[in-house]
Amino acid sequence: MSEQNDRKFLYTLDEEFTFSCDRTLPCFNTCCRDINIFLTPYDVLRMRKSVWLPAEEFLHKYTVAILGDDGIPLVVLKMKEDQDKTCPFVSSEGCSIYENRPWSCRMFPVFPVSAEEEEFLIEEKLACHGFRMKKKSTVRQWKENQDINKYDQMNETYKKITLHDYFQNGNKIDEGMSKLVYNTCYDLDAFKRFLFGSRFFDIYEVDVQTIEAIKNDDEELLKFAYRWVQFSLFNEGGLRLRDKEMDKLLQARSGAAS
Ligand code: SF4
Ligand code: SF4
Repeated sequence: MSEQNDRKFLYTLDEEFTFSCDRTLPCFNTCCRDINIFLTPYDVLRMRKSVWLPAEEFLHKYTVAILGDDGIPLVVLKMKEDQDKTCPFVSSEGCSIYENRPWSCRMFPVFPVSAEEEEFLIEEKLACHGFRMKKKSTVRQWKENQDINKYDQMNETYKKITLHDYFQNGNKIDEGMSKLVYNTCYDLDAFKRFLFGSRFFDIYEVDVQTIEAIKNDDEELLKFAYRWVQFSLFNEGGLRLRDKEMDKLLQARSGAAS
């Protein structure tokens, strides 16, 4: 079928579009191949819940990391090396990690046009039979039904980091900082080892409840990872040194730099 007949439309959050996808359609599973799926740290956290792999092993087996122009690591889901370049998680029953599938797979066929999410692009591909179904939803309803809001919530701080004024002004981070972002946000096991295997909590002021939360809950660990990255990159994120004199010096230095 010619792609010339695919059509693109813009929608606002409360406008309706017609689409639904299910396993009875002749195109079932055909779209889970040869695609670039960028993964946020929260995507990786959720996907790991389905495959029960340590972070480092998951990243090695299922992802490829590249560097963005600003030095921020971009993590992409690795397709299989078969002829169709199929997603490693697609099975004859559909997505084998459905409960924990990434943000982009949940959003499909809806793509936010900008970070502000005021408009959404939907490309009605003829090969996708879902657009011939009668089911209508607004973008807002779609996001609710696909449990996107939880993902948006968990991605919010990462979005703030990657869209920080520092980058908007054309700056880039060096290789060391790129590694720090990757190791902290994506390899959460390594970050946890760093936190609990070093004098981190002797040096930084972190309350006992937060320490307990990050020890036992990966989502809390990820939220703390974002704070560490914000602190390391921009001296933001609300982390303070226990040594008050040093902390004062650091604050003064960052005040002078801004
Ligand atoms: S993760 Fe699941 S939904 Fe996404 S491309 Fe792979 S099989 Fe399809
Ligand atoms: S309806 Fe579209 S999204 Fe669903 S399986 Fe078919 S091609 Fe994929």
